[in-house]
Amino acid sequence: MELPTKILIGEGVIEKLGSFVEETSSSRKILVVSGKNVREALRDRVESSIPRMKWIEVTEPDIKNVEIVVRESRDAGSVVGIGGGKSVDVAKLAASFVGLRFYSVPTSASHDGIASPFASLRGTSRPYSEKAKPPYGILADVEIIASAPRRLLASGCGDLVSKLTAVKDWQLARDEKGEYYGNYAASLALMSASVVLSSKNLQPYSIGTVRDIVEALISAGVAAGIAGSSRPCSGSEHLFSHYLELIAPGKGLHGEKCGIGTIMMAKLHGLDWEKVKESLARFGAPVSARQIGITDEQVVESLLNASSVRPERYTILSKVKLTRETAYELAHSTEVI
Ligand SMILES: [Zn+2]
Repeated sequence: MELPTKILIGEGVIEKLGSFVEETSSSRKILVVSGKNVREALRDRVESSIPRMKWIEVTEPDIKNVEIVVRESRDAGSVVGIGGGKSVDVAKLAASFVGLRFYSVPTSASHDGIASPFASLRGTSRPYSEKAKPPYGILADVEIIASAPRRLLASGCGDLVSKLTAVKDWQLARDEKGEYYGNYAASLALMSASVVLSSKNLQPYSIGTVRDIVEALISAGVAAGIAGSSRPCSGSEHLFSHYLELIAPGKGLHGEKCGIGTIMMAKLHGLDWEKVKESLARFGAPVSARQIGITDEQVVESLLNASSVRPERYTILSKVKLTRETAYELAHSTEVI
């Protein structure tokens, strides 16, 4: 198991970033990796908190940017990734390549990459995540995350509910293919999903709820670390999302597509898909394809071809083998199309 060692969550904790990442035994500089906007927004607070630091701006979540960070990290002591997703993933993979400690500082809660050992990059040989190392430390300032656009938090809720069908797919692979299944990792992932699924009495955007969502996303990443694979966090709903990204790049956020996928996969699994839909809607997450600019045909195509993204991953889609008619019926009956 590879797990994060230090986690700090709270309001205004960005002020403590320096002491959080500073290694008393090391005089090496700390590499801070972020996008341009985050740098502009947090520059003063981060620079005054970390005296020996070098800032690198990420332009794209691709291998070229990872290589830039790798080159700059030769005389660094550790790497800090600050941002919504791409900077954290670029920094995570670069730190893993050079064997440096990596600190994750999310500025939004749109997916579970905050704490997981996986990084999603463009321009790799496959459309799903690369295995890296989990962050050594995670510092999540709830105040910063709560002030990010609400769409990002709603997307995080989509990534959280997807653990429901991911765990069901994992159980299916255990029962039908004899695949290793970790009960504890599965339970932890399901608990993350329950933050959204049992949210009836929560104030969707209160600071307390934002904190719950951040903690749930971190727990989901930890569940993947315990399992040693993305199984507890990523099943048929993620394959659906990955295929959509291939045929309709840039339409919808990762968590938004996963949430919509979960509604349909929950129905295939015989779960309470209406509850999934209601929970997503409560947080303002999209529950239909047209809300994220996806056509009916693209949904049907993705349902039919999702398994091809990762043929070795056994899920409900491998078992059920949808036809064009049954795929359409599934999407239509759940009002995704
Ligand atoms: Zn995900």
